Order: sequence, then C-alpha cells, then structure tokens
Amino acid sequence: MSNIRVAIRVRPLSNREQEDGSQEIVQVNENVVRIENIKVRGVPEFGDTARARARDFTFDHVYDSVQGNAPCASQAQVFNDLGAEVLHNAFGGFNACVFAYGQTGSGKTHTMMGYPGDVGLIPRICEGLFEHIQDSGDDHVTSRIDISYFEIYNERVRDLLQPDLLRQNENYSLKVREHPKEGPYVKGLSWHRVKNNEEIQALLEKGNEHRVTAETYMHDQSSRSHAIVTINFTQARLEENRPSEIVSKINLVDLAGSERADPSSKPDFRKRLTEGANINKSLVTLGYVIKTLAERSLLSWETDDMGSLQSFSASGGGESQASSTPSGPNKQRMPYIPYRDSVLTWLLKDSLGGNAKSIMIATITPASQYYSESISTLRYAQRAKNIINKPHINEDSNVALIRELRKEIGRLHGMLASAQKAGTIVSLPEADNADIAEKLHENEEMESDLSIRGLRNRSSSMGVMIDSQLPYLVGMDDDVLSTGIVIFHLKEGETLVGRGDADAERDIVLEGPGIETEHCVIENATGEVILRPGQGALCSVNGQECTQPTKLSQGDYVILGGNQVFRFNNPAEAAKLRENRQSQGSLNTLGVGYPSYSGLSRASSYSSIGGDDSNYLSPQSQLARSYPNRDLERRYQSEQERIEQARTELEQLKSEHERAEEARQLREEEMYAAHEQHRADIEDQKHQLLRLVEENERAREKAKEELQLARESLAKEREAFQKHLDGERQKLREQQKLEQQQQQQGSQGSISIQTDPLCTTTTCVGSDDGLSSGHKEMGVGPNPGVDEEDGLILAKDVTVFREGRKVSTKEQLAELDQEEFSRRMSYRETEESLAFQQEDIEDSYGQTQQQIQARIRKIQEMEEEYKELDKAHLQDITTQVK
Ligand code: ADP
Ligand code: MG
Repeated sequence: MSNIRVAIRVRPLSNREQEDGSQEIVQVNENVVRIENIKVRGVPEFGDTARARARDFTFDHVYDSVQGNAPCASQAQVFNDLGAEVLHNAFGGFNACVFAYGQTGSGKTHTMMGYPGDVGLIPRICEGLFEHIQDSGDDHVTSRIDISYFEIYNERVRDLLQPDLLRQNENYSLKVREHPKEGPYVKGLSWHRVKNNEEIQALLEKGNEHRVTAETYMHDQSSRSHAIVTINFTQARLEENRPSEIVSKINLVDLAGSERADPSSKPDFRKRLTEGANINKSLVTLGYVIKTLAERSLLSWETDDMGSLQSFSASGGGESQASSTPSGPNKQRMPYIPYRDSVLTWLLKDSLGGNAKSIMIATITPASQYYSESISTLRYAQRAKNIINKPHINEDSNVALIRELRKEIGRLHGMLASAQKAGTIVSLPEADNADIAEKLHENEEMESDLSIRGLRNRSSSMGVMIDSQLPYLVGMDDDVLSTGIVIFHLKEGETLVGRGDADAERDIVLEGPGIETEHCVIENATGEVILRPGQGALCSVNGQECTQPTKLSQGDYVILGGNQVFRFNNPAEAAKLRENRQSQGSLNTLGVGYPSYSGLSRASSYSSIGGDDSNYLSPQSQLARSYPNRDLERRYQSEQERIEQARTELEQLKSEHERAEEARQLREEEMYAAHEQHRADIEDQKHQLLRLVEENERAREKAKEELQLARESLAKEREAFQKHLDGERQKLREQQKLEQQQQQQGSQGSISIQTDPLCTTTTCVGSDDGLSSGHKEMGVGPNPGVDEEDGLILAKDVTVFREGRKVSTKEQLAELDQEEFSRRMSYRETEESLAFQQEDIEDSYGQTQQQIQARIRKIQEMEEEYKELDKAHLQDITTQVK
C-alpha cells in the first residue's frame, strides 16, 4: 500500500501580476509552504493576527521557483526527485501516475510538458526511459514502449495523435469503456510503438500542437483541456525459465486549470464559459473524488480494517463497493466514490484509488490576489496526501507465485539442512524437522500444481478454474493473432451479459459492435443452460440467429453481437457424451483429448447469417463465419500445442530441478563427510593433548615423590652417621680420658683441642698412651694455659694400638673429624642436587604445559575456521538450490 505522494511547486510572480501590484504571500521553508492572508494584516479584531493570517502546509516535496530566491527549483530538480521515482516504479513493474493540479496559469503545463529549451517532466521521463534501458544493458530483458496522447475537452475524448479525425469532425469523441480486468480505457485510441527517444519526442510535439488552448485573463496560452500521455512500458524476460512480462502503465496528466468566470468583453465569452463549466465539472469531481478517497482511507485506518481497503483498492474501487461495509468493530459505510461523474476521474480511477503509485504536483502562484485559489489548491493537496493506493507489480500472477514458492522451498531446504546438521551437534526437537519437511513437501507440490495449472489456465476474468464442473463460455479474441482466451463461468441461476454502462451491473461485460446494454441472459438451471437474447440483441448459436430462448449444448459456439465468439462447454454433459461415445465405439475425429461438440452439425448453417451484417463484422469474424469449425479447431489446436509446449517446458524445469537437487544432496553429503572427518581429527588431537597434560602432571608428581624419598633417606643416613660418629667420639674420649689418667699417673701428656669449622662441638684430644689423666671441657676461644697456634690447642700425643699399628686417639679423633667433614660436604652436594632436580621438574612441567596450551589454542582456532567454512558451504549449497 502506498500513499499518494504530493509535491507543491510555487512559480514566480508573472509580469501581469507584478503590474497589478501583487505581493508575494507564499514562503517556502524546506518542505513546508506558508501562505499569508494579507487581507487580515493589521486588522485589530483578529486577536492573534499572526496565526490568523498565516497557514503552514507540509508536503513530500516543495519546489520554490519564486524569483529572487536562490537557488530556484529547476525543471531538472523536479525531474530528479519525481521523474526518477516514476522511472524507478515503472522499471519495478508498477503502474505510475503524475498529475498536475492547480489554478490556470499556476504552472501545470510548465511543470509537466515545459517549453522548448526548458522541457518538463513528461519529455524528461520519456527520455529517462530510453536512457535507463540503454544503461541497464540487460540482454535478457526486451523492452517495448507504446504511447498514446489524448485530451479531454468539454467531456469529449480526442486523440491528439490522430489529427485527421479532428479535422474531419471538430466535435468527434472517442468512447470510454471499462475492461473487466484492465479497468476504464478509451476505445479506438491510437497507440504508437516507439523505438527511441526521438520518436517519442516527435509524437509529444505532434500532440502538443493539437491541444486546445485559449487566452484567459490569467494566462495567454491557457490549456483548456486535460491532457493525458499514457506510456505502456513492457519488460519481457525469462523468469524461472518461463517467459514473463511485466507491464507498467504510466499516466502523465496535465490538467486544465479552473478559472473564475470573467464576463469582461472577451469575444468568445460564451465558449469560454461552457469550457470553464466543463473544466470545473471535472475538477470539482476530481476534488470530490480526492476528498472521498482520503476520507475512505482514513476510515479504513480508523476501523483498522485494511482488508476492506485492500479489496477495494485491488478491484480499482468505485461504485460496486460503494455500499460495502467494513467488518471492523465500527461498521461504518464506506463513502461512495463518484468516479463516473466525469470522464477525467473515470479514466484516472486506477491512478487515484487503485493499482498505481501516484504523485500529485499542485502548482500555485505566490500572488496575493489569488490567495483563495492558492489556499484551496493547498487544501486539496493536503487531502490527497491521505489517499492510500494498493499498487502491485503487473505480472503473471502464477510466475510471481511460483517465484515466491521457490524462494520458500529454498528457505525450507536450508532450514531442514541446518536442522539435520545441527542434530549432529545440538539435537533439535524431531517435531520441528518433521514440520519443516512436511511444509516443504506441501510447497513443492503446490508449486508443481500451480505451474501446470497456471499454464493450462492463464486467463480468466472471473477467476474460474478450467476444471470447474460448472458450464462455461470460452471467449476467443477476435484477432487471429491473439492467443488470449477468456473463460466465463456460468453460475447456477442467471448470468447477465451486456455493456459496462448498463444500469444494473452485468456479470459478463462485453464491448464491441452490436453488443447491447443488456444483451442477453444465460440461465443455468441444474445443468441445463438456456440463452435468452435481449430485445433486438444479436445472438446466434452455431450460426443460427436466435431471438427466442435457446438451449445450449456441449461444444456449441455462440456469437454475441457482431464479433464476440464463444465456445460453450458443459463438463457434466460432456462426461455423459463421452460415455455414450465409448459405448457406441465411435471415434472423435477432432483430435485426442478434444471433446466433440454436438453443435458442429448445426454449424454448417452458420454462414447463412451473411447479408447486411457484414458491415460490422471484422475480417476475422467473417473468416470465422465462413469456416467456423476449422477456425475454432485451428485455434483450439494451437492452444493445445501451446499447452503441450508449456508442459514440456515444465517437465524440463522439473527434471532440472531434480538434477540440481541430486547434485545438492551429493555435495551436502560430501561436505558432511568431510566435516565429520575434520571434527574427528580435531577431537582426536584434543584427546591427545589432554592425555599429555595428564602425563605431564603425573610425571611431575612422580619426580617430586622420588625427590622426597631421596631427601628422607639422606636425612636418615645423616642421622645414622651422626650417631655412629658420636658413638666413636665418645669411645675415643673415654679412651683419651683413660690415657690421660694413666699419663697423669705415669708420664706427662698434652691436650689438643681442634676446632672443627663445621662442628660446634669441641673435641678434647688426650695423650696417645691412653693414660690421659683428665678431660677438660673447654669453650670456644682462647683459654689461659693453652698455647694457641693456628687455632689448635696442642696436647700431648695419646696413642693406641690398632691392627698391629699404633694409632693415637688423637689421630683417630682427627680421622673422625675428617670423615665428618667430607660426609657433610657430600650431604650438602646431594641436597643441592636434589634442589636442582626439583627446579628441573618444575621447569620441564611448565614448558610442557605451555606447549600443550599453544596446541590447544591452535586447535580452537582451527575449529572456529572450520565452523565459518561450514557455514559458507551451507550457504553455497542453499544458493545452488535456489
Ligand atoms: P497552467 O498551469 O495553467 O498550464 P502554465 O504552466 O502554462 O500554466 O504556466 C503559466 C506561465 O507561468 C507560463 O508562461 C510559464 O512559463 C510560467 N511558469 C509557470 N511555472 C513556472 C516556473 N516554475 N518558473 C518559471 N515560470 C513559470
Ligand atoms: Mg496548462
């Protein structure tokens, strides 16, 4: 849904306005227009005069072309904003519309068409179309541009590109009709295929030349008609391997301006008055349509019932919904939209309230004497902002649906794949997978069904399925080169057939020569179908003109009016006939799968219509009249061939899809296998590292235990040695004592005291004869009576015999000291070595830990990288499926 976009353009004061002493009462500030009512300037009874005299309006764009204001909004700037938007929408396949609204002489024509040297939006948009086609350089898209240019003058439609018609009869008028699907259109309007910008510009110039203009007070060259340039822009391409066309209709409308009736002495005042009345009629209707559409849009928002608005908009709005009521809580009546009250609004029906992205440019003059006209234009523009349209891309709905379904299938495949994959890492609920798979299956079936159905039944104005069990009419276009078929469903009860302008709405709307307002009624009473021709309406069944109610049978061909040919199908009756045929063993000569039609025998009399009617039977109809069976057969067969071809295309498409799906699955499996292998490798490495960590821990603990044991045994050994030492010393000292005593008794002895630098105990050395008379415990330090020399206290030799050798006690004690000393040195070394070993254990443990950590980090990085790679692969596969 999209709101009508509204722009305002303020033109500079004209020379005449300046001469008249006009003041500028319009100011622009970005996208806000302020208009001032200078009549109330300084009037004391207006309390808040500032507010009373100025009003602000905000719009999507405001272009200020007021002189003296730099920079002025140029034609290029208007095109860059609005024209580019139109082109963007057209290339996107949307209908687009730009219409300029405003008072005479306010700048509508200037903005829309412009003048040589300063061209406006229409020529720029036309040029932009070709430029864009060239720039895009897409070889897969073929573009077609067809243009028409007509004006509505005094409620009559005149083709500006067929000036000969104008010359023949000044008052001629083309009829406006409504196509059941395409909406209102001008019948007989000339369309011109253009191949380049030069051709389109030449056509615009040609049309401009023939537009009705006249001098008005405000404007010397006032356009007295509404001019509409319509561009049909078709982009054909292969979409989803199917030929697809997107058609955008661009309506560019330069309206005639309203003007107050001025009875001053103009020679053709009466003519101008009639013109003015008609212009005003259409502008008043346009204003009213805008007002009611805006109200309707607001109402829809208020009742929060966009559904009703959508259905309204989708069908182009208008009378049929006039009495429809929304189903929302505030059941208000939707206002009636009086499109049909003027030719202009009737033709702009879709652009104003339906399938188009529309832009309104309201033009105003800044002159003070036109305050009321300008504020009225601004109010209209303000209202138009609220109108909501429902534009959609104009393409074969089946192509769009198939595209959507494929997208959805791709998405579901992706979800399924990732869910399955996730199952190996994080398990998802089974139900989710099943749901996705089921949905996928459903969508695939729907896509296939749609593809087939879409190819079988491409056109149906009433939305009837070809495999309906109800009877229906197959309408064949009069043009031999047309491949379109329209199917009209014949509901139970009455189906009214006639023209679009009939008082009561017709179920089947037909246009063309000989079609009456209320042409006929087709009655379907429980499978029996009767055609009741209207008064004087031309109807024939299998070539027999019928004025009375006529029963229709399977295969009858019906001609309504001059050239509307239909084939009547009644599936229930056809089924019975087929049964009969089988039971009779008769063969149908009209081809396989093509039900025979009972009316063929009657068809031979078809050519007898002839005579005067040939005046308004087209050549194709005349051909059909002469060879009705062959013509129908040929058309039917070509249609069959087309369907067959489409079926083959579809089969190819399906097998391609299957191949792609197989390839995808293969790749997916390969990827999963590689993924699993990689994951296993990583896990393996992780386990190894964990083992290493544990081993390292264990090795450290073991080394520490061994160290502890070594320390303990060292301590024990040291203790045992110390005990042994003490015991030995004790013995020697006792011996020494003995010797000293003996010496004292017999001989002179000496005492030697040696200070062991490693021992704090004092060793008393007695005489070597073993007869030491006494032991004197001495403290460390000089002792009176003791001769100090190198720290040794000299004593007399005490000697003992051992193993045949005389070893003095003193010597023995010295040996003991020596042994203690060396033992102590050895213990110290062992302790130091144990300490070094402990350090080595810690060092080697730390180093191994560091190496392991580094490897763990590396593996984690590899894992992350692999995850990314995995994601990319998955995306790759999903893209391939799409
Ligand atoms: P109308 O809307 O009635 O068709 P026109 O577009 O013919 O009015 O403009 C009336 C006059 O004002 C013309 O002479 C035109 O050149 C001039 N004019 C309109 N708009 C502008 C503008 N934006 N800048 C300069 N001149 C303008
Ligand atoms: Mg004009």
